Amino acid sequence: MSNEPQPNNRRLALFPLPFQGHINPMHQLANILHTKGFKITIIHTRFNSPNQSNYPQFTFKSISDGLSESKNKNLNPDNPNSVINFLNKSCIDPLRDCLVKLQEEEPIACLISDALWHFSQSVADSLNLPRIVLRTSSMSCLLVYAALPLLNKNGFLIKTIFEEEEEEDEEPIPDLSPITEKDILEIFNDVDCKDGVLDLIFSMIKTTKAASGIIWNTFKELEEPAFSAITKDFCIPSFPIGPFHKYFPASSSSLLEQDRSVMSWLDLQPVRSVVYVSFGSIAQMGEAEFSNMAWGLAKSKQRFLWVVRPGSVFGSEWLQYLPQGFIEEVGERGCIVKWAPQQEVLAHGAIGVFWTHSGYNSTLESICEGVPMICSPYAYDHPIIARYVTDVWRVGVMLDKGKEEEIGKKVRSVIMEEEGSEMRQRSKFLQEKVNRSMKEGGSSYESLENLVDLIISL
Ligand code: UDP
Repeated sequence: MSNEPQPNNRRLALFPLPFQGHINPMHQLANILHTKGFKITIIHTRFNSPNQSNYPQFTFKSISDGLSESKNKNLNPDNPNSVINFLNKSCIDPLRDCLVKLQEEEPIACLISDALWHFSQSVADSLNLPRIVLRTSSMSCLLVYAALPLLNKNGFLIKTIFEEEEEEDEEPIPDLSPITEKDILEIFNDVDCKDGVLDLIFSMIKTTKAASGIIWNTFKELEEPAFSAITKDFCIPSFPIGPFHKYFPASSSSLLEQDRSVMSWLDLQPVRSVVYVSFGSIAQMGEAEFSNMAWGLAKSKQRFLWVVRPGSVFGSEWLQYLPQGFIEEVGERGCIVKWAPQQEVLAHGAIGVFWTHSGYNSTLESICEGVPMICSPYAYDHPIIARYVTDVWRVGVMLDKGKEEEIGKKVRSVIMEEEGSEMRQRSKFLQEKVNRSMKEGGSSYESLENLVDLIISL
């Protein structure tokens, strides 16, 4: 018998972007491909490095990222966009050296890299290594991003983003409907350097088009028109094989410890009575906004489970800025934790609505559990995802989290009124579509088979 490795016994190198919303899907993808027989090496930066003991089945290679020792004045370590732009330069040589060494040990079938690691395309090209990208957001988001250079050319972006007009247009932009000028403006919320975000997006689009394929953490039925448009515009195969967390939970790649005590608290609450509040791993807010959120929740008179990530309120370690009298007002009705086992929380029958920043993983996790959403987008892809949740899939409502009265009104309308139960029905319908897509013959199942075939053919 030949000693040649079997086609899907070949080694793959996976390179996650070191942020929670990117680490989770890449590690889940690694598990999925491992079950298909591939050997997995995860290449990771020192910054936000994974807990290797949770993955005895993988090999890990750490590369230096230059982050901790950098004296670069343009680097703002608290701003993800600034960090990503920095790493896209500082990791060029370390990634190349790492891949060369790996290839010497055992040939690699391909590099699977986060799409935001745009530099990795030229590194892979220089080594004649095929590169497939994992895009961790929605397909419609990539289409909106891909349209930004055109909007830029027409002067629209310059006007909207850089001149910061007082009146933002809430009408859909022709050809990008339902996305509005306001949504585009919000992509650039709270970022240090708007040029830096545009550069990152443009480089990501260009190098994604040069890749051998795109893997998506989604299912085709959720975004059929976007799937067709991307297949046509990007001219490379797309593989919507998700949602990944339906195969493997994200708990093992969590950078923060999940507080499991919330599950027994939820067990004590009535069915569909609890507002689950979480704004993910990156979003930050000021004291006033935090205080409005607190009073909004208190005045809604509903039960709530609130994830307040340490450091998520500027200038505070954790709950220092909770307004006086809040704890007494809410009593047993509220539970606040630092980090929760989110997928399990969303699957719990006590959850009535998810108040979210509309991060893509959170949105998908909510859709999969049939939980309607209240969307308060923060920046980046969130406004685009929120617009699809509210206007296309119609499983959520938009909310400005700075307005205390609005908060109570929206929470009550989704938990208690007809509007909420209609959203829940539509959400259940999407949930059924997800389940069908994962079964044999379903779209995600088939896409995964096609992805494996592509990798074997490389
Ligand atoms: N998450 C979690 N516990 C929490 C809050 C979030 O495990 O208390 C997970 C969540 O399940 C999701 C990820 O963190 O998989 C957040 O990703 P998302 O894309 O929603 O937002 P980001 O953190 O990238 O802004």
